[in-house]
Amino acid sequence: MRPIGIFGGTFDPIHYGHLRTALELKSLLELEKVHLVPCADPPHRTAPMTDAPLRLRMVAAAVAGEPGFVADDRELKRAGVSYTIDTLASFRAELPGRSLCLLLGMDAFLGLPQWHRWRELTELAHIVVAHRPGWSAPSTGTLGDLLRECRAPNVAALAAQLAGLVHVQPVTQLEISSTDLRDSLRAGRDPKFLVPDSVREIIIETECYAESL
Ligand code: ATP
Repeated sequence: MRPIGIFGGTFDPIHYGHLRTALELKSLLELEKVHLVPCADPPHRTAPMTDAPLRLRMVAAAVAGEPGFVADDRELKRAGVSYTIDTLASFRAELPGRSLCLLLGMDAFLGLPQWHRWRELTELAHIVVAHRPGWSAPSTGTLGDLLRECRAPNVAALAAQLAGLVHVQPVTQLEISSTDLRDSLRAGRDPKFLVPDSVREIIIETECYAESL
C-alpha cells in the first residue's frame, strides 16, 4: 500500500509554492493521496489574517478536481490549539497499517524542536522535508542528529515501514510565500499566476486581504 502524505499549513492563502511542492512529493514518493490540512488555531505564530473556514475554502478550491488531493478539515473540527501531534494521531487511528508521511518545507523543519511533543511525531509518521529557497538542511544540533540517525536509505523505505524515517527531497524552488502575497495584496497588487485562479477569485470576492483589487 502506498503512503499517505499529510501537508499542514496556515495556507493564508494557499499558493503555487505549496501546490507544486505537494504535487512533486506526491509523484516522487508515490503517495496515494496528499491531505492538505489547514491549521485552525496555529500554536507557533501570530493569528492568521483570515479565518480557518475561509482558508479551508481556498484550499478546497485550489485542489478541486485534482485526483489524489484532499482538502482536509480535521483541525477545524477539533477544539483548542491545533497541534500536529494530534493531527497525526487522528490519521494513525484511521489508518493503522498505513505508512504516513508528514510533509514539511525546510523552514518548518528547522522550527520542529519548538513543536508540541515533537519527538513523538516520528512514532506516528515519517517526516519528509522539501527544499525551500533560502533554507538548508541542518548538519549540527538536535535536527542534524535526527537526520543522521533516521535518514531514509531511499524512497522505497518510506512505503516499507509505517513511520520513523526522515527524508529530504529536492523539489522545484518557487520563491512564493503567503507573507509576501498578503503584503502584495495589501499594496493592491494582483496575485494572478501566484495562486490558482479559483483562489484569486475568492480573495477578490471576499476582500479578505484587501479591498477592491
Ligand atoms: P507564511 O509566509 O504566512 O509563513 P508560508 O507561505 O510559509 O506562509 P505556510 O502555510 O506557513 O506557508 O506553510 C505550510 C507549509 O508549506 C510549510 O511546511 C512550509 O515550509 C511549506 N511552504 C510554504 N511555501 C513554500 C514554498 N514556496 N515552497 C515549498 N514549501 C513551502
